[in-house]
Amino acid sequence: MAEKRKFQAIKGTRDLLPPETELWNRVEQTAREVFGTFGFGEIRLPIIEKIDLFARSIGSETDIVGKEMFSFEEYGFTALDTFRRNIITLNLVGPEPRFGFFNPQIHVDRFLEALSSSVQKGEIAKTPEVLSALGSMTELRDQLTAELQKEKPDPEEVRVYWSAIQQQAKNVHLGDQICLRPEATASVCRAYIQHNMHALTQPVKLYYMGPMFRRERPQKGRYRQFYQIGAEVLEAITPNTDATKSLGKDAAVDAEVIEMVMTFFARLGLEGVQLDINSIGHSAPECRRGYVEKLRAALEKVKDKLGPDSQRRIETNPLRVLDSKLESEQGIIAGLPRIGDSLCADCAKQYEKVKRQLDLRGVKYQENWRLVRGLDYYMRTTFEITARGLGSQNAVCGGGRYDGLVELLGGAPTKGIGFAIGEDRLILSLQEAVKGSVAQGRDVYIAWMGEKTLATAIRAAQNLRAAGFRVELPPVEQKLGKALGQADKLGARYALILGENEVASGEWTVKTLADGTQELVRGEKLVEFLRVQKKKEV
Ligand code: AMP
Repeated sequence: MAEKRKFQAIKGTRDLLPPETELWNRVEQTAREVFGTFGFGEIRLPIIEKIDLFARSIGSETDIVGKEMFSFEEYGFTALDTFRRNIITLNLVGPEPRFGFFNPQIHVDRFLEALSSSVQKGEIAKTPEVLSALGSMTELRDQLTAELQKEKPDPEEVRVYWSAIQQQAKNVHLGDQICLRPEATASVCRAYIQHNMHALTQPVKLYYMGPMFRRERPQKGRYRQFYQIGAEVLEAITPNTDATKSLGKDAAVDAEVIEMVMTFFARLGLEGVQLDINSIGHSAPECRRGYVEKLRAALEKVKDKLGPDSQRRIETNPLRVLDSKLESEQGIIAGLPRIGDSLCADCAKQYEKVKRQLDLRGVKYQENWRLVRGLDYYMRTTFEITARGLGSQNAVCGGGRYDGLVELLGGAPTKGIGFAIGEDRLILSLQEAVKGSVAQGRDVYIAWMGEKTLATAIRAAQNLRAAGFRVELPPVEQKLGKALGQADKLGARYALILGENEVASGEWTVKTLADGTQELVRGEKLVEFLRVQKKKEV
């Protein structure tokens, strides 16, 4: 008998279940409402994108792109892929050499035949890898055949020929490299370019929500499939605009975006919210690049006192040293040069304007000179929001300005600012605040007794549901005691008791479960009666 197998959700992913999903829905609904009041519209993006999009935007050397991406090749040519896989997975030498049993060259022939036919039909581009495969695989196959036809083939020779064939096959890309998106800002920019949104009234204000994927080490508040709610404001740069005016305008946009997130969190009742802001200048020698050099020089002087991660980052990305949470490094970091002292005049002015705008809007913030972003296209305003109850993973939102990104992705010069909220963490923090979580509950449990009452019970359920009440209609009749017990367990507010007498008289019994009181209500008046009760509760 086949062994019973219990499937589990993949590491780092999880099922979200009721009643918790009610909180998720409330959070998402609130985001839609609040973002809508700020003039944002929803964009629904694909979950798969080309890897290049993220390699270009986030950078191929970053952890996210280098190590954490779930990626695969998209094959449009299934037969060709199968033939290729046969070659790649076939082990000709090793613990169990499989040559001798059949003719491995046949896989090469099938693959080459399918490949040249796809090239002829124009389904596959004539890349150097494809041309090389078409040219040299035939030759390698002939050499392999000759070796295998010998009375005693030399396993080493066979291995060399076969791995050369395998390598050639691997080099042929049959489709785009695709990945599950690790974030959505790049996708929003891609969509802005793709749909010519620069031709719309500017700025374009978009929000999104949905799952993101990163192969990180799972822990509380860190998952491999996690959810983000984010928003972006994109604005085509018009030539010859007055730089000073533009600074003031950008500052207002930045502050409004931050105000919107803070309004959203306040509406949700999120506790212990702290907003940190900083300016990271712009990527120019007289601004951030100059600062990075100063920082690197200062770090070189204290290199011996730093841990291995920070030591490595002095070379690769000195700004990231400022992120360090290592206790032993905190004293050293406190004495490092600060970016605020190296900002160019425009960036410094812009930062002052953002703070003034936040003050005008009554948004409380804390300046944090250590808040940085490692990527070059980020500039000026940077912010992060933390909340209570999250331990070390306490950032619920990160955001910033990225004026160079759309251009980097092939679009026209465009300004951008946005943020991403970690929804999983937001929910965790909200749950900490209201321990015990929300019960899903029902408004009405219909306790029907006797087959003759079923038709009335169904009609009552339909009418109540149409009026928006949450109704539980048990599929089989129950004794009254059991029905009331069940209603209680489900957290119902009322039990509608329908026996044959009630149905005959048209006077139904409505029991309030909290205090056990009962009232007789005429069937046709039931919806009205419950509406009045609900209003009284509020
Ligand atoms: P980032 O896109 O890295 O700037 O992250 C923005 C926000 O997404 C963070 O502040 C977190 O709240 C959340 N986040 C990022 N990575 C994860 C993850 N692996 N699991 C859960 N939340 C995450």
